[in-house]
Amino acid sequence: MTPTISTDLCIIGAGSGGLSLAAGAVQMGAKVVLLEGHKMGGDCLNTGCVPSKSLIAAAKQAHVMSRGEPFGVRPVNPEIDFGAAKDHVAAVIAGIEPHDSVERFEGLGVRVITGYGRFVSPRDVEAGSHRIRARRFVIATGSSPLVPPIPGIDATPHLTNESVFDLRDRPEHLLVIGAGPIGLEMAQAHRRLGCQVTVLEGLVALGKDDPELAAIVVEQLRREGIAIHEGAQVAEAAGTEGDIRVTVADGTVHSGTHLLVAVGRKPNTDSLDLEKAGIRTDRGRIQVNASLRTSNRRVYAIGDVGGVYQFTHVAGYHASVVIRSILFGLPAKVSDHHVSWATFTDPELAHVGLDEAAARKRHGDSVEVVRFAYEDNDRARAERATLGMVKVIVHRGRPVGASIVGAQAGEQIQVWALAIANRLKMGAVAAMMSPYPTIGEINKRAAGQYFAPRLFENPWVKRVVRLVQRFG
Ligand code: NAD
Repeated sequence: MTPTISTDLCIIGAGSGGLSLAAGAVQMGAKVVLLEGHKMGGDCLNTGCVPSKSLIAAAKQAHVMSRGEPFGVRPVNPEIDFGAAKDHVAAVIAGIEPHDSVERFEGLGVRVITGYGRFVSPRDVEAGSHRIRARRFVIATGSSPLVPPIPGIDATPHLTNESVFDLRDRPEHLLVIGAGPIGLEMAQAHRRLGCQVTVLEGLVALGKDDPELAAIVVEQLRREGIAIHEGAQVAEAAGTEGDIRVTVADGTVHSGTHLLVAVGRKPNTDSLDLEKAGIRTDRGRIQVNASLRTSNRRVYAIGDVGGVYQFTHVAGYHASVVIRSILFGLPAKVSDHHVSWATFTDPELAHVGLDEAAARKRHGDSVEVVRFAYEDNDRARAERATLGMVKVIVHRGRPVGASIVGAQAGEQIQVWALAIANRLKMGAVAAMMSPYPTIGEINKRAAGQYFAPRLFENPWVKRVVRLVQRFG
């Protein structure tokens, strides 16, 4: 064992949360030790957001080649080199890697130790031959794919988001368990890259999103030839490489060549020895208070390991909250009124704040809902991307939630993310001048929809106008 390292801050896990925190803290003058036992960049860079969006981009290229007809461009049946698409995925990861590398972080002044950290006392962590004593610890170990105890699953070859990007040969028929974001993003990408795809969902597809908008995504995916079965709880799995069978609760058997399990994630706490530091967990998650502090006051937890919202950008937000309390001793709490996310199917599905049901539960009948359809947007017409809508939930003149399904929904939701984070009024969005013709105009027009009845159906407005015309 080497001499104990004393530091201000020890971060366990170099995924998106841990890296944001390390970079911020060291550049603001803290002494930082960062522990990582596997790959710098964590799930997002290596097996999550980056590879999935890269594969989706490859699939989109293939898709547009076969969809030129409405534009007067003869469609072609693209020849897909599945292995080369994976090379593209690997190249995108390699391009981003230096930003998350040990070299970059050491260059910033962070002491990076390769090894899994585990608590040996309430204020000491060991990683390999190192012992670290820190004023504050932050656990940022993320989560891993959950493989549920479905009978037969352990003996049946299956993929998760950690292994699906390693496939070099195109699966003939991909069976997907779970129609959440991972299941549906991968289903569509594989379909567009030439696979037959069957999705089995125990409840409803995209169950965490507004059902009105989620239904539009599901319908489009079905039109592309993906079989999506809802209410199909998988009860058993069996088979061998290339010959997989899954049985759902009603006894129906679905066969395929490959199986992807995408039924959620579990927090990575196994190797932390949390009990030695008096850190409590709740259903596997590290229990944190609104300041992201654990039951050990020296230790915080950020990102998936303690959070309800398992997103890279939420981990980054958590990092910005704990940095305030750790570095400056300021009271800092997380707020979830402006949490946003996007699912990168085509059409995309994006959301921020409350959905309609949650808003009605919280605010009752004073909630108003405005919608604006993509088909009423001229740019969407030019692009033949008229499938979609924006839906805004308004309470007392302020947006409290918004969802968008359609082209670039993940980009277009940003206006509402800004408005909701800063508690702006609908008037702020309506006052924005959007260049014409852009898809982004849908947001200004949705805000206009909110004011339209107030202006056009209000008899007082008409009376004032008549008076001004007569006497003004
Ligand atoms: P999820 O929890 O969002 O969806 C899993 C789905 O699997 C659920 O709908 C559930 O009903 C279903 N399911 C569970 N057991 C089943 C069974 N035995 N048979 C059939 N269906 C079953 O999980 P996910 O899609 O794996 O995503 C994991 C996390 O990662 C989520 O928090 C998600 O939001 C996040 N993520 C986000 C994005 C994005 O923002 N674009 C992309 C990928 C993942």
